[in-house]
Amino acid sequence: MLGENIIVNDFMFCLDHGDELCHRCFCDHRLTNNIRIEDDLGDLSEFIAFEIEDRHPINVYALGAVAAVHTEESYQCEKHKSIDCKTCFDWVDIVKKEAEATEEGGRWSLKGSPETGFFEQLD
Ligand SMILES: [Zn+2]
Ligand SMILES: [Zn+2]
Repeated sequence: MLGENIIVNDFMFCLDHGDELCHRCFCDHRLTNNIRIEDDLGDLSEFIAFEIEDRHPINVYALGAVAAVHTEESYQCEKHKSIDCKTCFDWVDIVKKEAEATEEGGRWSLKGSPETGFFEQLD
């Protein structure tokens, strides 16, 4: 049975573990989550779309998400007590940082798609 999900600042995570990718809940929300920020990613969106399966999944509870006191449907951050906090849950920034680090390190690139030959081996 599929677990329930929560939405934090437009991104979906499993309710039980706060995971974007959860083997226990059999869910992987990265694709739908990526679509939400696609426009904001600019040049990186294509890169990420290709390597979606390798994006490091975000754990929203690790970022301090807690159920909002007044509206049970919403989640706020521990730090600012702000619902859908744009600072703590800045997905564009989080994904961009990882993508940039990965581009430099070449971790994603090395796993690139052999069918398309889109990515070159870096070493
Ligand atoms: Zn889960
Ligand atoms: Zn915050």
